[in-house]
Amino acid sequence: MTIADLITGAGASITLLKTAIAARDESKIEAALSDLQTKYGDLGGMVIGLVEKSMSLQDALVMANHENAELKLQLAEQIKYKLKEVSPGKFAYFCEASNETGEPAHYLCQPCKDAGIKSVLHIFNANQYFSAHYDCHIDKKNHSFCV
Ligand SMILES: [Zn+2]
Repeated sequence: MTIADLITGAGASITLLKTAIAARDESKIEAALSDLQTKYGDLGGMVIGLVEKSMSLQDALVMANHENAELKLQLAEQIKYKLKEVSPGKFAYFCEASNETGEPAHYLCQPCKDAGIKSVLHIFNANQYFSAHYDCHIDKKNHSFCV
């Protein structure tokens, strides 16, 4: 039953009540009032159910908007890093400097980033044979290489 059905039914009950009042028929007045109270209760129950459903949908919308904002941030973070081969067979994710955020150019450790860990590579001149040496602060032993 819909709200429109209940309102139509209540209107019919009011018409019956008016007829009973005009006829001064106590039993029909009591029956029409009882019917009207039942329909009023049904309508109230339906309205409460709709309000609860509306609140639930509003909560779901807030959560979906929050999740959407989080996903947009994650996507922006993913897009800003490009996978580069920094030495033969060695890869790192490169991020260019940003004038907008003031973030300097840097590399992320590829194995760590692929595992969901953001580890900025530390770069320094290692020795006379290599131009630079990159260290991952999470796993220096396995995630470091020279260029
Ligand atoms: Zn690493």
